[in-house]
Amino acid sequence: MFAEVIDIERITPGMIRVQFAGGELDDFEPTEYTDQYINGYFVPADAPYSIPFDLDKVRGLGDDFRPRPRRFTVRKWDNDAKILTIDFVVHGDSGYAGPWAKRANQGDRLQFKGPNGSYSPNPNVDWHFFAGDETAIPGISASLETLNANDRCVVFLVVDSAEFEVPLHSDATVDVKWLHRKNAPDPSTLLLTAIKEFDFLKGTFDVFVHGEAGEVRELRKYLLSEKQVDPETASISPYWRRNHTDEAWREVKKEWLADQENDF
Ligand SMILES: Cc1cc2nc3c(=O)[nH]c(=O)nc-3n(C[C@H](O)[C@H](O)[C@H](O)COP(=O)(O)OP(=O)(O)OC[C@H]3O[C@@H](n4cnc5c(N)ncnc54)[C@H](O)[C@@H]3O)c2cc1C
Repeated sequence: MFAEVIDIERITPGMIRVQFAGGELDDFEPTEYTDQYINGYFVPADAPYSIPFDLDKVRGLGDDFRPRPRRFTVRKWDNDAKILTIDFVVHGDSGYAGPWAKRANQGDRLQFKGPNGSYSPNPNVDWHFFAGDETAIPGISASLETLNANDRCVVFLVVDSAEFEVPLHSDATVDVKWLHRKNAPDPSTLLLTAIKEFDFLKGTFDVFVHGEAGEVRELRKYLLSEKQVDPETASISPYWRRNHTDEAWREVKKEWLADQENDF
């Protein structure tokens, strides 16, 4: 499936919101999940094909030209207007997806598969726990927007500084704790330290924790061992890994996830 860029907005210095319409979006079938994501196929510069392409054929074109798959959360799907919104983190000039969003113009196309998803806030718990970095903000935002006035949640988010904070909207009571990497002695431990110091609310809660692999692993270890979080029902996963392209990360991810079980 493919769609065309209709709007580009820099919502913070580190986040670009891209809206898509047209193309084949009439066939878009949203899931029931608030963390639903698409698998976008980002086309390297000078590739000898254009969107729409036959994925099986172009995959065989070699490393210089094959499209690069990258997952992105559906920030919003407007079913009436058939508009898809994705929030891309700007993380420098390396990679494919981030730089693509930085250069995006109206009329540019993106080919993708999906969406798929697995998490929605559990209506049967007393409160909801969310944590992550910029890459988790779209999923957390979409989740918060589905909650009701009598829901309660706590959100830990790490970003570079105050100007990188994204406004969150919800009818629920939301206690947001923004953490800033700027001037922090070790930014990679900010989330864990803050969560360790947090006095967990009473009652049952569900868990949504996503972001950088090393940071998420430490959080998982803490939540499972100290807060008796059930790994079967919690939504905890690494969305990206520092100093690894998505290809390099996917190559070792299975082993990393298996090794994670030795953390206890
Ligand atoms: C289910 C799922 C949903 C996701 N949803 C979103 C989303 O809604 N928005 C979003 O922006 N990302 C999201 N991500 C993360 C995104 O897929 C990765 O960040 C991806 O690696 C970006 O691809 P790239 O081509 O820009 O960079 P790559 O080619 O993968 O990496 C190039 C370099 O940039 C670094 N890098 C990659 N991502 C980041 C980052 N976020 N911050 C700092 N450095 C980075 C890498 O470590 C590497 O050194 C999601 C991931 C998953 C698995």
